[in-house]
Amino acid sequence: MAIGLIYNYSFSDIKSLLASWGEPNYRARQLWEGLYQHFWVFPKQFTDLPLPLRNRLAEEFPTDALTPVNILRSSDKQTLKTLLRLNDGQAIEAVLMCYAKRRTICISTQVGCAMGCVFCATGQMGFKRHLSSGEIVAQVMYFARLLYADGEVVTNVVVMGMGEPFHNYENTLSAIDRLNDLEGYNFGARRFTISTVGLVPAIRRFTEEKRQINLAISLHAADDALRSSMLPINKPYPIDDILAACRDYISVTGRRITFEWALVNGVNDTPEQARLLAGKIKGLLCHVNAIPLNPTIGYAGQPTTRLRANNFKEILNNYGIPCTIRLRRGMDIQAGCGQLASK
Ligand code: SAH
Ligand code: SF4
Repeated sequence: MAIGLIYNYSFSDIKSLLASWGEPNYRARQLWEGLYQHFWVFPKQFTDLPLPLRNRLAEEFPTDALTPVNILRSSDKQTLKTLLRLNDGQAIEAVLMCYAKRRTICISTQVGCAMGCVFCATGQMGFKRHLSSGEIVAQVMYFARLLYADGEVVTNVVVMGMGEPFHNYENTLSAIDRLNDLEGYNFGARRFTISTVGLVPAIRRFTEEKRQINLAISLHAADDALRSSMLPINKPYPIDDILAACRDYISVTGRRITFEWALVNGVNDTPEQARLLAGKIKGLLCHVNAIPLNPTIGYAGQPTTRLRANNFKEILNNYGIPCTIRLRRGMDIQAGCGQLASK
């Protein structure tokens, strides 16, 4: 546990900590509610705690996990991207998307990413480090606080920002557990979606844990040669192994899986790829989420066209596979899928 970040502490950690300071039991509950129901973060805000305790907290936990250093709003005002500095000087990005009544936030789990998907800005920057569970929790709290000031609440959390969540499994899942706490933030597991590049052992572990969290798999190609050229991690974890793990996940949990597909013109938006994909996932409880590629500096591929995207969708639909073409959002502020980096 990294010392100095209150969000790294579970409720039972806080109880032990305050007990070790000689505080009565109920102080832990007050602190927990202050953090997760009032979204306080600085010890001076905890006015229901006695001053000496507030001072002690200020000494032990001198800073928030994150400092916003740059905030960009898309021209349609619906997407807000924030560059957040961590205490070691590294930075991550997190995004708030406001569509209709939804307030969805997209959070990061690592600084950079080790998976090296060629079309992804995060992959292009390489791996710097894992985020602690507290740094993951802090991103949600940051937006919860922001929305609270306007009388609004976070409705969904997608773990689709920078990094591969299943490469940082422990911290990601313990962050979600902390946010889940009934007497804390109480954010239901079903309102989280984790997206993974397809780390098979982690998908299997996730399956065994029978969690209620939604699962999305970044597939992007239906044959191993093409997928390996786009997602190098396909070599150790090829498509059929991923799909076998998905099949088990669905039969154990009864939950639907989402397959993600960034449509690249002339590469994976062809009728052949659509038919190959359909053959592989036919009969699975699933849904395909396709999105035209978001351009990044390090990748020459171009987004699909509307016509080609519709054709791809039609082919899947003809096989009985639901597919939606998602709109690209937040392009003008580089807040789209795969465009996050810590420049
Ligand atoms: N590491 C995880 C989650 C973060 S990426 C994963 O890969 O699933 C979130 C989603 O954005 C993934 O589906 C990823 O494949 C997709 N993505 C990455 N770069 C993209 C780009 N340039 N255009 C569109 N989608 C992209
Ligand atoms: Fe990492 Fe996901 Fe980007 Fe691939 S798409 S490099 S796994 S963040």
